[in-house]
Amino acid sequence: MNSAIAKQRLKRALALAEPCQLCPQRCGANRIQGQIGLCGAGPEAALFLEYVHWGEDADIVPAQTLYLTGCNLACRFCQTAEEQRFLPSVRLTAELFSRILERGWRAGAEYVNILGGEPTVNLPALLKLFAEAGDFPGLVWNTNLYGSAEAFLLLDGLVDVFMADIKFGGPRCGHELAGAQDAGEVARARALEIYGRSPEALIVRHLVMPGHYECCTRPVLEWIARRLPGVRVSLKTVYLPPKSLEPGCPENRFLSPEEVSRAGELAQTLGLRLTRDADWPPSPPPRTSAVNSGGDPVLVEVAISPEGRVYMRHIVREAAGVLRTVAGPAEKE
Ligand code: SF4
Repeated sequence: MNSAIAKQRLKRALALAEPCQLCPQRCGANRIQGQIGLCGAGPEAALFLEYVHWGEDADIVPAQTLYLTGCNLACRFCQTAEEQRFLPSVRLTAELFSRILERGWRAGAEYVNILGGEPTVNLPALLKLFAEAGDFPGLVWNTNLYGSAEAFLLLDGLVDVFMADIKFGGPRCGHELAGAQDAGEVARARALEIYGRSPEALIVRHLVMPGHYECCTRPVLEWIARRLPGVRVSLKTVYLPPKSLEPGCPENRFLSPEEVSRAGELAQTLGLRLTRDADWPPSPPPRTSAVNSGGDPVLVEVAISPEGRVYMRHIVREAAGVLRTVAGPAEKE
């Protein structure tokens, strides 16, 4: 991550937020003057969780992972939104950001992984922080891709890896599941642009959702094979129904074993370049014994599906080892 580039692009990012055109909602909030947008983001970035994550794809771990408030989609199955309701957020100042980075490097982090919500809604504040932080390698932008083309162009050359969701096959699922019928269309457009600029910077993540094989998983994977040849694909079969979903909601269940295998078989048939999960437990010895490398404690959540699959959220290194010991290989989110 080149802080000089961040500094150059800050002016343009500020202009995009006044009134805000950072995402297709184009809600017009004057973010720089302190207005809060539909996404809940204001003039500055706010942080509600951070830790060194050992549980995502092998290509981007270990990562000092920062969860920011503000999201422009309203996915009804969002685990993070549910969790955020119970966690206080703090202003992400330059001083706090550099302290977190420092702690992450000391704990062995090789990447900085920015999550939300959606990080793009906080682009001006983040560019300001990057400009002040100095250069660092391994910036991961963990995104729903629901941002404007102009906003994503400002990230070109700054972000090392876009961990980018394409969830929805068509407008009906985008509307019903995330409150934006163009969510799938916009995500595909941004993915094509990023791929066109630097294919190796893109990992397309597809979350397999219960009951959404024909409408989402099949068309999305086929589109990836056709339009993004050779791109890295993270196929997530770790759907975890949030506690807040109503009992009758079709998405309020785990994936069946058949849904898991059908998605995997399709990916194989299409010849997709699937990413590898991180090793469990991570192989090099921990450089620190602190679960959260000196930050606040992290609640590591474990769930077990009716078929006995074990799911785990927020995989810090030590917890991964413990779970492996007591429950065998587990699924990660
Ligand atoms: S990023 Fe937020 S404030 Fe900006 S247009 Fe989208 S919803 Fe509105």
